[in-house]
Amino acid sequence: MTPRLFVDRPLRVGEPLPLEEAERHRLLRTLRLRRGDKVILFNGAAGEWRGVIVDTGPPVMVEPVEFLSGGRDSPLHVTLILGLTKHGAIELAVQKAVETGADRLIPLLSRYGVSRPDARQSENKSRRLQRIVVEAAQQCGRTRVPEILDPAGWEELEALLSPAPRLLFWEDAGDAGARLKSLPHPGEAVTLLVGPEGGLSSEEVAWARERLGFVTVSLGPRILRAETAAMVAVTACQLLWGDMG
Ligand code: SAM
Repeated sequence: MTPRLFVDRPLRVGEPLPLEEAERHRLLRTLRLRRGDKVILFNGAAGEWRGVIVDTGPPVMVEPVEFLSGGRDSPLHVTLILGLTKHGAIELAVQKAVETGADRLIPLLSRYGVSRPDARQSENKSRRLQRIVVEAAQQCGRTRVPEILDPAGWEELEALLSPAPRLLFWEDAGDAGARLKSLPHPGEAVTLLVGPEGGLSSEEVAWARERLGFVTVSLGPRILRAETAAMVAVTACQLLWGDMG
């Protein structure tokens, strides 16, 4: 597959643009590309550009030569709220959420999850998660780069959500919990919530249901790890209502 490079800048056919150091390093050092080699450029808007390395600089110059419409983004807009969980698990969950087509990611601060990070930790974590999002979008061929918000508490959540149907994945949903295939088609958007590895408290589940209108959904009888549940939840919705079925 032609290497793909996300450049957070306007792209126009025939207008070469200089690459930043991290972009240069990836093309010349990691991928060992040379002058004349081809790349696919995308900037998060719809579509992507076939490009060519016209100068290895510094700075490296790449020229968009042809706009390619289309892309690999799902018609189903998925917002995934993820109980902020320990280092490693959230990174994996974010990476898999991008690959399975989530559009918007909201790390949730919850009672049994990790505590609110201080400003410096939060800044570092947000930067790391943003890098994971871009790398996963580059790798899986998406042209839209999912948005990842700063960690939010329950009280902040309501203002961040669209009116799209809201599904809370709960291992204790039991028979009262809906099964995905029994739910009506959500239309073009759906909001999913998965708790942290310590789970959600019954008060949090009640708040989500009564104040935020979430429907509790079971993913079957087995207890899934948080990162597994997140990937399974997005995949199941893409299978039923997106572009994986
Ligand atoms: N109560 C769990 C336990 O005993 O380990 C802790 C939570 S589980 C590891 C992490 C999250 O994955 C849960 O908060 C829930 O959102 C989701 N989850 C796991 N298994 C599930 C299932 N069978 N149905 C729906 N959601 C599930």
